[in-house]
Amino acid sequence: MAGPLEQLRGVGRVTAERARAFGLASVADLLLHLPARHEDFAEGARPIRDLAIGEDATVRVELDSISVRPTRRRRLRIVQARVHDETGLLVATWFNRDYLARVLSPGDVLLLRGKIRAGAPPEMNVQTQEVIGTGAEGGRASEGLHTTGLVPVYPATEALPSRRIRELVDAAIPLARGLRDPLPVWMRERLTLPSLGEAVHAVHFPRRRPEARLARRRLVVGELVVLQLGLLALMRREAADHVASALRGEGDLERQVRSALTFSLTPEQERALTQVKADIRRTRPMRRLLQGEVGSGKTLVAALAMCTAVEADAQAAILVPTETLAEQHLRSLDALLAPAGISPVLLTGRIQGAERERRLLAIKTGTAQVVVGTQALLSEGVEFANLALVVVDEQHRFGVEQRSALTSRADEGRAHVLYMTATPIPRTMALTAFGDLVVSVIRRRPPGRSPVATEWVREPDRDEAYARIREELRAGRQAYVICPRVEQDTDGRRSAVAEAERLAAGPFAGFSVGLAHGAQSSDDKRQAMLDFAEGRTDLLVATTVVEVGIDVAGATVIVVEDAERFGLAQLHQLRGRVGRGADPGTCMLFGEPANEEGARRLEAMTQVSDGFALAELDLEMRGEGTVLGARQSGATDLRFARLTRDRRELAQARHLARKALDRDPRLTADVHRPLREAVRERFPDIPRLLEA
Ligand code: ADP
Ligand code: MG
Repeated sequence: MAGPLEQLRGVGRVTAERARAFGLASVADLLLHLPARHEDFAEGARPIRDLAIGEDATVRVELDSISVRPTRRRRLRIVQARVHDETGLLVATWFNRDYLARVLSPGDVLLLRGKIRAGAPPEMNVQTQEVIGTGAEGGRASEGLHTTGLVPVYPATEALPSRRIRELVDAAIPLARGLRDPLPVWMRERLTLPSLGEAVHAVHFPRRRPEARLARRRLVVGELVVLQLGLLALMRREAADHVASALRGEGDLERQVRSALTFSLTPEQERALTQVKADIRRTRPMRRLLQGEVGSGKTLVAALAMCTAVEADAQAAILVPTETLAEQHLRSLDALLAPAGISPVLLTGRIQGAERERRLLAIKTGTAQVVVGTQALLSEGVEFANLALVVVDEQHRFGVEQRSALTSRADEGRAHVLYMTATPIPRTMALTAFGDLVVSVIRRRPPGRSPVATEWVREPDRDEAYARIREELRAGRQAYVICPRVEQDTDGRRSAVAEAERLAAGPFAGFSVGLAHGAQSSDDKRQAMLDFAEGRTDLLVATTVVEVGIDVAGATVIVVEDAERFGLAQLHQLRGRVGRGADPGTCMLFGEPANEEGARRLEAMTQVSDGFALAELDLEMRGEGTVLGARQSGATDLRFARLTRDRRELAQARHLARKALDRDPRLTADVHRPLREAVRERFPDIPRLLEA
């Protein structure tokens, strides 16, 4: 199966080379290269006598003569052949296919497919032809391959057209039976799915469409079962290998924090907190993902969970991706937890010297009950007395590798882990990408917050938009302007640096304009954010560095330049930066998208305010992987499955995977051997997966 294509009859070096260049290196690759669709040449060949004018038909004929006829139009040449079957004569015509006159000769038996035109004898405008009758060369394709029944149409290139791929697949198809089928019979029977060999055959050359659909479903389920098994096995192993401290208490600290709040938790916050507390009561380490809209109040949920940890005489830490965010979290946690007498300690790379030593000591001795910091917190050299709860905020900013590093560091210390993210990961995606996490969701923002009004502003209305922003600024409020790039480039995109200058000199002369972007030193960037947060600047021009959770209550407007360049999830994240205080927020998307898709996305932003709905939409419009960003798409590289389409299959696969692991935790039973191998091959980077 892994063998090269040259082993197939009729495949020479040149073809094999072209196929390789297209990503089809082995017979298995070829067999798993699925057709994009099937063209329906439903009936087989029909007698010439029975053909009706105007219909599309296939005939099986013998060639009598063939010639090229020039026409009056210089560019148009017609190839004409006289053909016959037992029932009559036909004139076959092709346009601009001179070479056919060279390769076809009288006596050849052909299958021709095309439209029938009136004439005596009748004519056929041939769309597809196939030689089936002369045995001159070796590897001839199966009869009717291109002209009868459901004919597969493949993703192809000019060098390797669909027709050629069809021939290659046809040559390889007898080997499909030899494909190792990872799915055990009991799984197939449960869903009445064909074997892998049967499915591969039917997905290329189905007799009828339902057969192709079932075959495709089989491939999808097979792929998802393997994926889910890997994720579940990993999760169960972690759970089995490690124990965490059981965190429970009377809830006094939590009550103290709650009683100081001026509002009550939303039902969704309550539910999420209940789930988290149930998790950390147990010695099985928590691995929970808390998804919540921007501004949905995740921090509060985390803070209350931390109270439980502190009450159990343990430490809690919250990790955030940037120093600015760490400082911001310190402020809000400090205020939240003060009523319980907890005063969080900040530890970032900026804190150096004696001060750092002092804090490290507090962490080591346990007097620091809650620690806020960047991921440097979990680096070597930071020792905790008893770290029992780790909260990872804006987890999507940490890559998959970082996540597993965090987890293993947490495991050494027997800690529970709560991941929080504002990226609205669609449920289907969460199941795949985070199959090893359980998920809590907060969909609604606290009451009294109106959704951010989002407008798509076209170029002619730019000045008017600026005028409205100036009014906001005069009223003491603030605005962001987000640009896709830092410096001016040749692509004409607005850059933060140039835009800051332009705005300060022109439309916003007289206001104070700040600048923050990723190419600044972290001191400069931090200062710029601080100036904005504390109201010293009115307008902050920035790149997406502000995307991550920055909380400036006075900011009411966010402008996004070249908005069509951003993903929906990212735009949603950006607009979450405003409307965080008492005043409603406005998001102005400037954009002149070059295509329909871009326009649809900007339009969607103005219509849809629910981040989860947007994420589903993003998934549908742009395909898989983009919602999570490149860094996290690895786990979701799927060959057959489309998560937006194959939801049912995903649920079924998950169910089967659970069943399999319940019965046979290491998949060592004979019936599960192939499955075990497939899972280990799918996750080559996870050592000792499914080993005892
Ligand atoms: P995020 O989920 O984006 O991290 P935050 O935790 O920063 O959201 O919360 C956003 C704001 O909403 C904070 O100022 C917080 O005090 C406030 N908040 C949280 N929960 C509630 C609630 N139930 N009712 C009213 N305001 C709330
Ligand atoms: Mg937050």
